[in-house]
Amino acid sequence: MTIAIIGAGPAGLRAAEVLSGAGLKVDVFDRMPSLGRKFLMAGRGGLNLTHSEQASSFVQKYGQAADWVRPMLEAFPPEVVQIWADGLGQETFVGSSGRVFPKAMKASPLLRAWIARLTAQGVSFHTSHSWTGWTDDGALSFTTAAGPVTIEAEATLLAMGGASWPRLGSDGGWVSILQAQGVAITPLQPANMGFKLDWSPIFRERFAGQPLKAVGVRFGDRQVRGELMITSAGLEGGALYALSADLRRAIEAEGTATIEIDLKPSRTRDDLTARLHATRPGESLANRLRKAAGLSPAAANLLREAKGVDLVHDLPGVIKRLPILLTGAQGLDRAISTAGGVALDQVGPDLQLLARPGVYLAGEMLDWEAPTGGYLLQGCLASGDWAARAMVAAQAVSG
Ligand SMILES: Cc1cc2nc3c(=O)[nH]c(=O)nc-3n(C[C@H](O)[C@H](O)[C@H](O)COP(=O)(O)OP(=O)(O)OC[C@H]3O[C@@H](n4cnc5c(N)ncnc54)[C@H](O)[C@@H]3O)c2cc1C
Repeated sequence: MTIAIIGAGPAGLRAAEVLSGAGLKVDVFDRMPSLGRKFLMAGRGGLNLTHSEQASSFVQKYGQAADWVRPMLEAFPPEVVQIWADGLGQETFVGSSGRVFPKAMKASPLLRAWIARLTAQGVSFHTSHSWTGWTDDGALSFTTAAGPVTIEAEATLLAMGGASWPRLGSDGGWVSILQAQGVAITPLQPANMGFKLDWSPIFRERFAGQPLKAVGVRFGDRQVRGELMITSAGLEGGALYALSADLRRAIEAEGTATIEIDLKPSRTRDDLTARLHATRPGESLANRLRKAAGLSPAAANLLREAKGVDLVHDLPGVIKRLPILLTGAQGLDRAISTAGGVALDQVGPDLQLLARPGVYLAGEMLDWEAPTGGYLLQGCLASGDWAARAMVAAQAVSG
């Protein structure tokens, strides 16, 4: 018999590496025709594998799940992720923000080397196998182009991801299967997603697709620096993703949420006041914003999108705290990750599903969330590693 891993994303592949490295027979199944599609997509804008910050603040990024994830991060910490990537021929570097990337920036060379290593360790891959649940006698059932298939497994790891970017494979189809087994699941919701805004038609037409670089975004008592991207539907980007869990909750409760954008975090308000006063009399507002305040055309025009601000008497104040009304959160379709999933009290400390002994879980299927910055992949790799080590230990006991 074999160990079955369902889901060939980073969590499932790391588990396959540990299990096959321990000499166990491993079969990996994925519903898509090729492996690791979301992982490849993650590499499109630069594969942010993990983060270099101190362990104590690193773990806090997992919010309510921090204590739960801590032992997994200690067992497979960011430094080890870097060594692991290096071992796959993908040397890493620490970017200016502390984020860790492979030098190639892309995911494809790393994924290729990873699959080659797994194949050499004896792992068998079965693509276009969509898991549909268990048969009455406990076998795993799949649909394939050639018809239904059942597999008897000694132990199973479910690593089917969340439900963001469903066209890449992770569509949350497992939710109803596990609910039918009595497993409690926190509803899947978008995380690290963009937000909707009512842009004026002219602003949308001119600036959708343009970045707002090095801005600050404030919501409540939290302020994050980073980049925003103007989209036709609203705003997305790292600075907003970091606040997305709080914003999602606020929009759920109130219907809308107002963020404040600091368009020039590198300058104080007094500094901006002095610079704007120093411009020639008669200089147009557009020129003053560009020359004196150093704003891009997109940032300067964003000022006109805000409601109820006094551009005449308080221009520096508005540049530092521009209120922008978010009218909704964007859906799972284009969210970076998923909040919700299998409730953490449904698995034991070894990530074994209490309702079905011998079935383990890892990755984004579980109910934890984290901001972008490498914390997502780190959490998926570390939980895959952790579950697999528990499975190896269980096999040693039973064998
Ligand atoms: C655009 C984008 C950019 C990102 N960038 C980063 C980044 O730079 N850094 C970072 O840390 N994170 C990033 N992420 C998030 C990261 O990619 C995910 O957190 C991670 O891939 C989740 O890993 P996983 O193994 O849990 O699940 P997934 O990677 O989603 O893999 C799950 C697999 O299970 C398969 N599957 C699902 N259902 C079934 C079924 N019924 N039967 C068989 N197979 C099934 C799917 O096809 C899929 O291959 C990004 C995500 C996106 C969308």
